[in-house]
Amino acid sequence: MQELNEKGAFVKLFPQFSEDDCDYLINNSAILKIPSGTALCREGEYGDTSFAIMNGVVEISINAEGHDNLTLAMLEEGNIFGEMAALSGQPRNATVTAKDELTVLEIPSNTLMELMKKSPGFNDTIESLYSERAVKSCLRKVPFFTKLSQSALEQLEERVKLITYKQGDIIFNEGDTGDSLYIIRSGFVKVSKRQEDKEKIVAYISHGNYFGEMALLEDEKRSATISAFTKTEVIQFLKDDFNELLKMNPEISELIRDSVIDRKLNTFEVLRDSEKAERLEAIVERGIIQADSLLIIDLKRCINCDNCVKSCESRHGYPRLDRKGTRLAEISVPVACRVCHDPLCLTCNFDAIKRAPTGEVHIIDDNCIGVSGCAIRCPYNVIKMVSTKSDSGSKWFDIIGTLMRKKQETKTDEEDQGKPKINRKRLAIKCDNCMGFSDTACTNNCPTHAIKWVNPIEYFGDNEDIISKRKKYQ
Ligand code: SF4
Repeated sequence: MQELNEKGAFVKLFPQFSEDDCDYLINNSAILKIPSGTALCREGEYGDTSFAIMNGVVEISINAEGHDNLTLAMLEEGNIFGEMAALSGQPRNATVTAKDELTVLEIPSNTLMELMKKSPGFNDTIESLYSERAVKSCLRKVPFFTKLSQSALEQLEERVKLITYKQGDIIFNEGDTGDSLYIIRSGFVKVSKRQEDKEKIVAYISHGNYFGEMALLEDEKRSATISAFTKTEVIQFLKDDFNELLKMNPEISELIRDSVIDRKLNTFEVLRDSEKAERLEAIVERGIIQADSLLIIDLKRCINCDNCVKSCESRHGYPRLDRKGTRLAEISVPVACRVCHDPLCLTCNFDAIKRAPTGEVHIIDDNCIGVSGCAIRCPYNVIKMVSTKSDSGSKWFDIIGTLMRKKQETKTDEEDQGKPKINRKRLAIKCDNCMGFSDTACTNNCPTHAIKWVNPIEYFGDNEDIISKRKKYQ
């Protein structure tokens, strides 16, 4: 009876679904009762589930420049939220709070994606919601739009388009005719120019920034090639809409003109200074800008005591950190999780690798069956597969084997009921930024403070930061 009631509610919520789709949803989602005032999603946190409102009302709000808790919408029964983070793997764009007692259906991302494949109607609904919400929240976070009125922003929303590029896609080529300006919603783009028959990286531009403005302002051909360094979502403004916006808002025009001068100066410097060009190339090509959080060792301070590795090993039973990483002048980037903006390791059919709301990527030991998919996908060799048997003679394998056996032994029969027994020979191990601890062992045990976590864009400077720092020191 209960099941029939649920099915009836689902049919009302998802009129596009066949009975088969409803059964799939019932078997792969959970109904939750949420007290009033609870935040189901928090802006900036990661989450891999979406929600359908069965009863009650939620408030969607964001923190935009100059506006804390700006309410974007109120949603009631029949609406879906949380789908953007669940589908993109990016942090939540907005905070969603229950305004009264709420009943929601929590839908895991795998289930959502499967249903989008099964039902073209549902796929269209979710894609159009995604696009509409991505544009709405992104435009309100771009600093030069903060002075625009709500109605001006709403008119803009109608005219722009969200486009997704795959890693490596060319967005436009040097010499093309410019017809649009782009704002990056998520991801990074690489800016390169031809010099003596070679393609040279002159900048990278990260999410929240824009590109393509030079050709529009100066009515020239594109001055550089722009390609997606990772999967990248951009909001496209067509030339006529952009020019109309500038006519009505001369202060935006001034800001953009200033940045054109700065960007030209930056390109000029990179092209004539080979050291700077090499450093920039290394930062981009070695994936350093991909990191949301990067472990670095300042080699001027490091005394090679190896305490960082030893303390990691003593905390986790296995050293998850390898000091032999990549090097950039006096800085070494050891092999440790980079907390990538768009982690390639996160696809696992067994749900054995997850991203915590706070961003750490971690292995769920109980789900890992040792097939190595995540280790193969990680481009930075952060994930190691270790044997759970002691036949290799290595002490690490013995330790892992003992840890796994202890874990198995402490499980109750009840916990094991209904779960297939995993006869695992190998287990994935990775740095998870000491998730669950109040510090990271490596940084806390370094006697010279040589090893530390940094935000690479702040530390190495992205295009815009390099420019502002240079100005400060002139
Ligand atoms: S603990 Fe600090 S000083 Fe010692 S090896 Fe590690 S980074 Fe270098």
